[in-house]
Amino acid sequence: MTVQGFFSAKANAAAQAYGIPRIAVIGRGFSGMMMAIALMKTVRTPFHLQLFDPNSSVSGGQALASGHSSEILNSRVRDLSVSAGDPDDFNDWLCSNAPFRSAVPAAIPGFLQIFVPKSIFSDYVYQRFSEALSSRRDITVQVSGETVVGLRRGRGGRFFVESAGVSNPLFDMVVLATGYGIADDQPQSGEPVATPTTVRARRLVSRPHTVLLGSGLRVVDRLLQMRDSGYDGQITLVSRRGFLPQSHTRSNADPVFPAEAMPSNLSEIVHFIRAACENAEASGQSWQSVMNGLRKHARSLWRSLPAGQKQQFNRHLRALYDSHRNRLPEALHVRLQQELAEGNTLLRRGHFLRRTPTGLTMRPAGQQGIEQIYADEVIDCRCQAPDLTTPLTQSLIDAGLAMPDELGLGLAVEATGALSVDGRTTDGLFAVGPLGLGSLPDIDLVPEIVMQAYAAAEGVAARFYPQCKAV
Ligand SMILES: Cc1cc2nc3c(=O)[nH]c(=O)nc-3n(C[C@H](O)[C@H](O)[C@H](O)COP(=O)(O)OP(=O)(O)OC[C@H]3O[C@@H](n4cnc5c(N)ncnc54)[C@H](O)[C@@H]3O)c2cc1C
Repeated sequence: MTVQGFFSAKANAAAQAYGIPRIAVIGRGFSGMMMAIALMKTVRTPFHLQLFDPNSSVSGGQALASGHSSEILNSRVRDLSVSAGDPDDFNDWLCSNAPFRSAVPAAIPGFLQIFVPKSIFSDYVYQRFSEALSSRRDITVQVSGETVVGLRRGRGGRFFVESAGVSNPLFDMVVLATGYGIADDQPQSGEPVATPTTVRARRLVSRPHTVLLGSGLRVVDRLLQMRDSGYDGQITLVSRRGFLPQSHTRSNADPVFPAEAMPSNLSEIVHFIRAACENAEASGQSWQSVMNGLRKHARSLWRSLPAGQKQQFNRHLRALYDSHRNRLPEALHVRLQQELAEGNTLLRRGHFLRRTPTGLTMRPAGQQGIEQIYADEVIDCRCQAPDLTTPLTQSLIDAGLAMPDELGLGLAVEATGALSVDGRTTDGLFAVGPLGLGSLPDIDLVPEIVMQAYAAAEGVAARFYPQCKAV
């Protein structure tokens, strides 16, 4: 959906003229769109909202943009509601969608447990955004197509948002929703468009051969997309740990978790969870139910771990954890297993070293030697972490408005989205979504992003309009 032009810059001038509070959201991926919805539904007094992103349309970022992700989302409908306190909202939207209902009759009366294509989730998010907007005649929204390259305090504690080539008036509040950064095919500050993750090499092997780096959802996405579009060459997946996403269960896997207190030491916690999974399987439940239950404890567990153990988790266990939490719908998992069994797709465990003109070099797991792999194409599908070296993040850190979390995975962020520096929150500045990955487990997933966006919106309502109650 392209909304550029729907909301004119005149709104901006009007907001300034009437002294209406101005809020900037940087990034229009899922987190940015979610933040906009949460603000429009929560903050009951007039405001001007400006959404920055170099994407020319409201693309939905990595989760929703069609060029970047799989046809089928890997979360069930029950976990994708964008409405606070109403987990059935997406299901209700699907039930009221006649074309969807007639296409998926078997799931009537409810769709809570099914997996849907991302295009449908995307339609749902945009419709809720449009509805929230059309119900608010008292606010103005402006879409700006610039990359934000800096942020600093201006007069009266307000924020100066620096975007390439444009001078913006001061903002009362800023929300960072920059996720995994600018997508590869988006130019930064006027740079030419490039696709740095893909390298084509001179053909040295008789059959087409593509290497995909990584083993998470993006790899599976790309692999299945290539096969769907007719690619029948050899595909090699090169991954350090080699943990591919596990499968969802056919049934709903409602969360379960042992009632006993959890141990405080990382290795004992791992034993505890492993035993809980075994017990669940033995009693006819699934380990997936335990992983779903664990998510409810993840935040307090993470907070309680000393920094050294967090680092240990990050180095040795995160890939394993990710492969068990980011699961594939059963049908896709079966396809992946078939791909591997047929031999046309190979999983190689090892450390990717560098690209070469003819492919890449890697150090296979457990070996000292270096191996050269010939490939026509090497595509980087590894899980990214937020980039802390961008001009925007650097400007925040330099100005003392933000600091990296203790693992350096992202910025130090509270559950409410407030940024914190040495334990003190930064007034008027929030970060929603994956930027908080080192502070808040699972903050890269839809339910956690939704919760955080509403918490941040409540924070805005309370901070700027203390006399008003949020609805
Ligand atoms: C293939 C795939 C499938 C997924 N499936 C699911 C699922 O089924 N369930 C689930 O819960 N989660 C899923 N996720 C994860 C989750 O949805 C993502 O974590 C989510 O997309 C994060 O969105 P985001 O908006 O924070 O970040 P992004 O998608 O990275 O968007 C960030 C946006 O910010 C913009 N931006 C960055 N820097 C600047 C700047 N300086 N100035 C202006 N704009 C900027 C970028 O251009 C981009 O548009 C999936 C993710 C992927 C990739």
